[in-house]
Amino acid sequence: MTQEQWGQLKQRLLNTVGKNNYTNWIEPLELSGVKDGVATFNVPTSFLGNYVSQNFGDLILYQVNSIAPEIRRIQFRTAASTARDPEAAKSGAAPQRSAQANNNTEPDIRHNTAPLDERFTFDTFVVGKPNELAHAAAKRVAEGGPVTFNPLFLYGGVGLGKTHLMHAIAWELTSRQPELSVLYLSAEQFMYRFVQALRDRKMMDFKEMFRSVDVLMVDDVQFIAGKESTQEEFFHTFNALVDQNKQIVISGDRAPGEIENLEDRIKSRLQCGLVVDLHPTDYELRLGILQSKCEQYSRQYPDLRMSDGVLEFLAHRISTNVRVLEGALTRLFAFASLVGHEITLELTQDCLADILRASERKVSVEEIQRQVADHYNIRLSDMIGPKRLRSFARPRQVAMYLCKQMTSRSLPEIGRRFGGRDHTTVMHGVRRIDELRAQDAQIAEDLEILRRTLEG
Ligand code: ADP
Ligand code: MG
Repeated sequence: MTQEQWGQLKQRLLNTVGKNNYTNWIEPLELSGVKDGVATFNVPTSFLGNYVSQNFGDLILYQVNSIAPEIRRIQFRTAASTARDPEAAKSGAAPQRSAQANNNTEPDIRHNTAPLDERFTFDTFVVGKPNELAHAAAKRVAEGGPVTFNPLFLYGGVGLGKTHLMHAIAWELTSRQPELSVLYLSAEQFMYRFVQALRDRKMMDFKEMFRSVDVLMVDDVQFIAGKESTQEEFFHTFNALVDQNKQIVISGDRAPGEIENLEDRIKSRLQCGLVVDLHPTDYELRLGILQSKCEQYSRQYPDLRMSDGVLEFLAHRISTNVRVLEGALTRLFAFASLVGHEITLELTQDCLADILRASERKVSVEEIQRQVADHYNIRLSDMIGPKRLRSFARPRQVAMYLCKQMTSRSLPEIGRRFGGRDHTTVMHGVRRIDELRAQDAQIAEDLEILRRTLEG
C-alpha cells in the first residue's frame, strides 16, 4: 500500500465515519510502512492508537484489504516507541515480547486480538501429571507446523491453566512467525463483537475479519451455550477456517459433549480434533507451582525468609484451583513484607485463615464409611447393619468418630446414616475411639491413615 493509496482510503473512511470522527481519529494516522502482512501506523498518543484500534480497527483493515488484500493486520505505534525502537518502526515488524515486558516501552497496539498476559508463557507453566497432555498438545500447536488436529479443545475446571496455555500458544506462535495473524478472544468477546456488527450493519467486516486469521483461539466457549445466533455465526466461522486448514484452539469448562444448550452439530465439530482435559492439580503439581512462584517472589522480596514446610503445608491444604493457590502466596508475601517477619507456619495459618477454611475438603459420610470399610476389609453393609460383632463394631465406631471430626453432621444425623442408630450410640462410639486413640497405637495409626486418605 502506497502513501497515495492510503490517502484515497482516508477519503473513503471520511465518508463512512463522518467528519467529526474523521478529524479526531483518522486524520492523525500516518502510514509508516507495511511488512510481512502488517501495516503500521504512527499515532501521536497511545490513547489515540488504542481508541482507533478498538473502534475503527475492523473498518480500517477492511478498507485496506480492498486495495491490499495481503495485509492481515494493522498496528499502531506512538512516536515514543518508534524513537526507542527505530529498527522495528522502520520494518513495521510485529512486536517482540521482550519489548512489551519492559515497562519503559509503550506496548504496541495490536489489532483484533484480546490482550495477552505477558506472564502466561510456556516458560512459566509448570508441567505435572494432571496437565502434561494438555501442555504437550499446546506445545505442538505452538510450533506452527502443519495442522494435525483441528480444533485443539482444552477443557477443565476453573483455574487449571486453560487461559494460560492459550496465551502461551499465541506468544510462541507470534514470536516464531511474526507475520502470522493470531486472534485470541473469549467467547464472550466473540458474541459482543458479533452483536455490535449486527447493530452497526457491519456483518461483512465481521465475517471478513474472522475468516482472514491464520489461527483462531476462543476461550471459554461454554459462554455461547444457549445463545443461538452467536452459535450459528461461530459455527460458520469455525467451518470456514477449518476448510482453509487454519488452526483453531478452543477452551471450555467441560468436554464438548457435556456443554448443555450447545447445538449438536457444534459439539460434534468440536470433538473432531483433539480433546484434552486439564485434571485437577495434585499435591506434586501444586508444590511445583508454589516453588516456581516463590522463586519469583524471592527476587521481588530478597530479604524475606520462609520457614521449611510452609510450601508443603499450602500444597496440602489449598484446593486444586491454581488461582487460589497464587492468591494465597501473594497475600502471604505482601503480609510478611509489611510486618517484616519470616514466613512461618503460624504466620501462614493466621494470614490465610479464611482461604484455608474455604478450601477444607468436604468429606461425606458415605466416603468415610466406604474408606473405613475398605481399610478394615469388611463389607459396607456389615458396617452399617445391625451386627454387634466386635470386628464390625470397632470399624463402625471409627467411622462414626471420623464423621464427627471431619464433617459438620450432628450426632443424630450421623446415627441415621449408620442404619438408624440413636445419637447416644454415636456419642458412645466417638468417646470410645477418643479413649482408644490414646492407648492403642494401632487405632491411632488407622485413624491417621484414614484421615490422610480422606483428605486426599
Ligand atoms: P483457567 O483459564 O483454566 O480458569 P488460568 O489459565 O487463568 O485458568 O490459570 C489461573 C492462574 O493459575 C493463572 O495465573 C495461571 O498462570 C496459573 N496457573 C495455572 N496452571 C498453572 C501451571 N501449570 N503453572 C503455572 N501457573 C499456572
Ligand atoms: Mg480462563
